[in-house]
Parts: sequence; structure tokens; C-alpha cells
Amino acid sequence: MSQNGIHHVTAFSGPAARNVDFYTEVLGLRLVKKTVNFDDPGTYHLYYGDETGRPGTILTFFPIEHAAPGRVGIGETQETAFRVPRASIGWWTHRFIEKGVAHEALVQVLGEPTLRFRDPDGMMLALVGVAGAEGGFAWTGGAVPAEHAIRGFHGVTLLLNEAGPTAAILTDVFGFQEVGREGAAIRYASGAEAGGFVTLRAVGEFLRGRQGAGSVHHIAFRAADDAAQAAMVAKLTGTHGLGVTEQRDRQYFRSVYFREPGGVLFEIATDVPGFAVDEPVEALGRALKLPAFLEPHRARIEGQLPQVA
Ligand code: ZN
Repeated sequence: MSQNGIHHVTAFSGPAARNVDFYTEVLGLRLVKKTVNFDDPGTYHLYYGDETGRPGTILTFFPIEHAAPGRVGIGETQETAFRVPRASIGWWTHRFIEKGVAHEALVQVLGEPTLRFRDPDGMMLALVGVAGAEGGFAWTGGAVPAEHAIRGFHGVTLLLNEAGPTAAILTDVFGFQEVGREGAAIRYASGAEAGGFVTLRAVGEFLRGRQGAGSVHHIAFRAADDAAQAAMVAKLTGTHGLGVTEQRDRQYFRSVYFREPGGVLFEIATDVPGFAVDEPVEALGRALKLPAFLEPHRARIEGQLPQVA
């Protein structure tokens, strides 16, 4: 299987407890890591995914208790979509009605049934019914019956002034190929099973986004290891003339960041070492985990964080 594609998506949310409740109890994802924002340890960093938090299944949040809502605009992620088995879309529609989740009528997008909905902060999400997704990675020990469980990401939609410069990065650096067009949307695929799609929606001059609760902060793409990441960085700086950060150790992966030409913050994250590096798979997400450099400050950090499940 291709190791290209989306590694994780990171967003801002409002209150942490409400975020945990929605993503675990309503969507049935597994909380695979409870840690803090390494750059701002007074804030949680919550990771949701499949059983082990495989790349392509991971949605992460920085919850801020009193965050103002964001407004989607140019240079931002407009929609984050998950995969579910095609036959499960009806079950999910019923669940959203039952749980009072804001959602739209089912539509076909590039030939796939798409159920758009919002989380409690107004973040724009979708479920895409994918034929054959039944066998994909999932969390089957959670609040949603195994047969209907989310199978990682389908992909993201980026709202841009123009598609070309961003498309060049996707195709040349991350190995995506154009697979379809519909209206202002152009879809690119990487071949990865989960997190394999990026759709660019070019709308010309338009309001810029304002980041807040419900806004996606960045999209991380996969690199198998440090060497694969270094090769991508060489292309970004050499061929595309972009500035890239130094590599940062994020404990569960190693990352570099750059602003793509359309204005969206991109990251390249290694597949290694993964979330089982500091706690066993059975226990993922239960205890607050801190990197070694923050461990001496645990008592103070725990005292500042709100209570979550
Ligand atoms: Zn990230």
C-alpha cells in the first residue's frame, strides 16, 4: 500500500470535555492519546483515531475552553471527511437525527454519497460512503457498532484562491494525482486507503479565514521515515523555493512544517514511532502522557488542565 496521503489533521476546538464526548461517544473514534500542546503545555492535545492511531485515521485537537468560533475562508481547510462503508450512510443519517447532530441532506460528490455535518464547535465534517471500506482500519471497541465504524479519513477539501500552486506541491512532493473535477473542485488521490484524497476548491478572491474553534490548524502528510521526509524537504526547498522548519520531535512522529503557496499550513510527519511508544495499545488515551522535557512540570500542568473523560 502507498505510504503517501494524509497522516493527521489538527484543529482547534472549544471545551475539551465536549470535544471528547462528541468524537468518542457520537462518532465512535478512539481517544488514542491524551497529551498537551508541546509548544503551549497549558492546553491539551487530544488525538482520535482507529485502534492504534494509524496514519490516515488521526484527527487531533487543541481545545480552548473559551475559544471564539472560527470563520472559514481562503487559505484554509473547508471540510474534513471520514470514510464509512457505503451501506452505512443511512445508519449514520439516523444516528445524527437521534443525537441532534447538525447535518445536511445526503449529496453525491464526485460520484460518492456524502453526508455533511458539523461538530459542536461548527467544524465542517463529512462522512463519505465508500464501497469496500468495510475491511478498513477502525476502532471496533467503541460507541459505534463495528460494521458502521469510521474507517479513517477520506480526505480534506482546501479552499483556495487558485488551485495550481498547491496542486504542484501535492503532485510533485506528495505523490498525488488528479482523479476528478466537478465545478470548482479538483480532486487528487495518493493511492493510500485512508486519508488518500485532497480536493482543492478554487474560488478566486474571497474573504480570508479567521482561525478559532472549529478551524483546522494544519494538515499533516505522511513520510515513512526521516529519509523520506528529508527527500520531500529537499524538493520543497530546492524545486519549489519554499521555507521549511527544522525537524521537531512530536514524540509519536517527527515533523517539519511549511506554509504551502495557497496559504494552508502543511506538515510532513513520519509514520514512526507511533502512539504505542509510551503506553501499551490496550491503554491508549487513558493517562495524561507528557514528553520527558515536560515531566518535571507534571503537577503544575495537570493542575491547569480541565477535567476530561
Ligand atoms: Zn500536526
